[in-house]
Amino acid sequence: SQNHFFAAIRAAMPDLSKPLATHPDGAMETYGDALALSARLANVLVKRGVKPGDRVAVQVEKSWTAFVLYLAALRAGAVYLPLNTAYTLAELEYFLSDAEPTVVVVRPEVAGDVKALAAKLGVPHVETLGSDGKGSLTEAAAGESESFEDVPRAADDLAGILYTSGTTGRAKGAMLTHENLLSNAVTLRDYWRFTSDDVLIHALPIFHTHGLFVAGDIILMAGASMIFCPKFDASEVLRLMPKATTLMGVPTFYTRLLDHPGLTREATAHMRLFVSGSAPLLAETHRAFQEKTGKAILERYGMTETGMNTSNPYDGERIAGTVGFPLPGVSVRITDPATGAVLGADEIGSIEVKGPNVFKGYWKLPEKTASEFHDGFFITGDLGKIDARGYVHIVGRGKDLVITGGFNVYPKEVEGEIDALPGVLESAVIGLPHKDFGEGVTAVIVRTPGASLTEAEVHQALEGRLAKFKLPKKVFFVDELPRNTMGKVQKNILRDTYKDTYR
Ligand code: ATP
Ligand code: MG
Repeated sequence: SQNHFFAAIRAAMPDLSKPLATHPDGAMETYGDALALSARLANVLVKRGVKPGDRVAVQVEKSWTAFVLYLAALRAGAVYLPLNTAYTLAELEYFLSDAEPTVVVVRPEVAGDVKALAAKLGVPHVETLGSDGKGSLTEAAAGESESFEDVPRAADDLAGILYTSGTTGRAKGAMLTHENLLSNAVTLRDYWRFTSDDVLIHALPIFHTHGLFVAGDIILMAGASMIFCPKFDASEVLRLMPKATTLMGVPTFYTRLLDHPGLTREATAHMRLFVSGSAPLLAETHRAFQEKTGKAILERYGMTETGMNTSNPYDGERIAGTVGFPLPGVSVRITDPATGAVLGADEIGSIEVKGPNVFKGYWKLPEKTASEFHDGFFITGDLGKIDARGYVHIVGRGKDLVITGGFNVYPKEVEGEIDALPGVLESAVIGLPHKDFGEGVTAVIVRTPGASLTEAEVHQALEGRLAKFKLPKKVFFVDELPRNTMGKVQKNILRDTYKDTYR
């Protein structure tokens, strides 16, 4: 018996002298380096008492060592549990008491506070790792052997617990198995045509599924290389493009690149693929990028619980505003949220998915897990439709759907109309309890600096464009929308702030 995922990573490895990661300054980390360092780190973990299935929680800045620590945890048979660096000590307390890790690795700056917290919660070991790669973990690893016998793990054993982004409520721990990660990485590698010739610009954080599993695991399974940037910077990414072939980003990467004068056909000539996900890419961004570069961004759809579910095609038409087709091996269906009946083409309902990518359940929440599966399909919580050509469209989150006077209003449609008005920077449309209508459509708008748009003007502009029941009954102006650490708008906070508006 072998270590299910790491054996596959080993099998996919190219010549060990090949770079797995290049730093922006040109320094290289080879596949051989990754094997040696992950062995040292795995030896440290085992010495700290990490047993198969134990959690290793990690809240550190992005670094090469942090990436290799993920491999070390896999090899040690542990469950890797990365945490967003933006989480505060109070938030860390929740995650540590929920996950009960054997080891927690944190930034040297917060070591004192975390040690006190760990003592209180009974977390046995705290290690440190700085963005420069230094810390108690690295010191301990220096004295360890470069060989390590990978701990056997089966397909169904946990490889990681990733907490969801906490956009709709408290973050939940999604339990991902070795096979979840392996199957998704292989599927995406093949669908997006990654080979050992590829060089990915890696500018995403590595505490989230996008940067860690989608980007990192694909590179490993392709035996390819990545340029490992500490963070996204448009000028830096443009500088690196002639040395790279692909970029994976969230929509803001693309809007920032579009704002940069250096984004041209020539600058992107060496790039074969631009991928976007984690949040909706505006059709307008897709079109503007194609006009400037001649390249169509490939948008895909996934979530912490499932990895990737759908993708626009590599060869076929990449349609702006859609997330493409179900990936090979993944089934996607649309159901009526009230009855559970499977709906037909172009009908909007709950998006449900099934496949080897779908997680094992929410950590310590068996009842919640059971309630979010429907005949073997995972209920994503997103609403959407599949058009006659088979492209999946997302219209928003189920929790954000507004039902007013018995009519469904999809916030995205109303937001689209509002955002197009002069003087609007962005908007969020929410439903609030309403004594006559059940819920009242409500708009929260951020004006562009200096704009003096009024509620009456918004009403007037929308009247001819939207059916009466979709019109906001009330408009609020705010300086900014509440966002979580992944930059996603938190409508639950808005709903709470304005809950008494119609009562
Ligand atoms: P929580 O589940 O804690 O409320 P979250 O759902 O934001 O947080 P993630 O797992 O990081 O946590 O995000 C997955 C969600 O992101 C999806 O369910 C979907 O709503 C959204 N998403 C991802 N990709 C896309 C996309 N291409 N277009 C639109 N939405 C997307
Ligand atoms: Mg979610």
